[in-house]
Amino acid sequence: MAIKLKNEEFDAIIKRLRGDSLFYAPVKLSGKGRFSDTDLVKYREITSIGEIVFDKKSFLSLKEIILPATQKLFEISEGKLKDLSKTDSKRIIIFARSCDIHAVHRLDEIFLKNGNTIDPYYQAIRNRIKFIFLECPTQFESCFCVSMGTNKPVGYAAALRVEKDHITLDFVDESFKTELGITDNCAGFAPIYPVSDINPVSPPLNSKMPETMFSHQLFDAYDTRCIACGRCNTSCPTCSCFSTMDVTEPDKKDSGERRRIWDGCHLDGFTEMAGGHSFRKKHGSRMRFKTFHKIYDFRMRFGKDMCVGCGRCDDVCPELISFADCINSVTKALEKEERI
Ligand code: SF4
Ligand code: SF4
Repeated sequence: MAIKLKNEEFDAIIKRLRGDSLFYAPVKLSGKGRFSDTDLVKYREITSIGEIVFDKKSFLSLKEIILPATQKLFEISEGKLKDLSKTDSKRIIIFARSCDIHAVHRLDEIFLKNGNTIDPYYQAIRNRIKFIFLECPTQFESCFCVSMGTNKPVGYAAALRVEKDHITLDFVDESFKTELGITDNCAGFAPIYPVSDINPVSPPLNSKMPETMFSHQLFDAYDTRCIACGRCNTSCPTCSCFSTMDVTEPDKKDSGERRRIWDGCHLDGFTEMAGGHSFRKKHGSRMRFKTFHKIYDFRMRFGKDMCVGCGRCDDVCPELISFADCINSVTKALEKEERI
């Protein structure tokens, strides 16, 4: 069952719940684009349904909410440690596309199910999140979610359908309806999601990658093409690497804080060790590492590919490098290797 509401009725629900809930959605940030006269679509807190941008892909995904670009982990003041893993208890409701919800499930594997260690900072935010699925009636240009099997939404509390001056919420999670304090008043609907890609991609679904693929010449081209800017890493909803930084003030003894900050395998310094040794100096080696992590290593450990086919890495690359093309090249090269 579902509920049909006028836009202003839903806005009233947001207003009523704002004391203990945060609503996030993709919104337009005027003048914040690459040039001063261009706009940017990013996830931000909303106070009304009218703020949501439905017809454009967000530049960054909702990863910004669950794994902030800079996150303070703890602080020490005059020798006393304050753990910042549980600083807020507000419920977080996020309007999200299917690929981005799937991407959070990938992050769950990394931060909650990777070995025996649970990341308390990630968990503290994740436990408070519920998703409202944003339908995708048409794919955006660079998307390939169908190829990656992330087109069909899973793990959401309700689906949203927007029509002129009203919305319909179809509930999957009955407790969420109670949390919002609303009751059914109409029939539900089957959410719309893409069933074919505009530009399909063929990930290699092999169970064992031959050794020869890890030194394949196809990655050599990226030594010069890729400038190691890391935009593909920061825009990726499943890239989860970070560096830690301790911040101290010389005149405040026994005080300081630890932060974690997004990092990425394409960036200089990512694999640098004491003595200046670096595992992947060449940009092509970094591309190879990322590619196999996204479409092979992760699957070997967690049973699904890490890449969800959102296409953001292709959207942001200043060198017009297409990760989708790179995946197809790997599959072609692999087929050739297996024939030899
Ligand atoms: S690798 Fe590219 S297409 Fe895949 S999830 Fe990351 S940003 Fe999206
Ligand atoms: S965005 Fe493009 S140029 Fe920048 S690191 Fe990624 S692949 Fe290389």
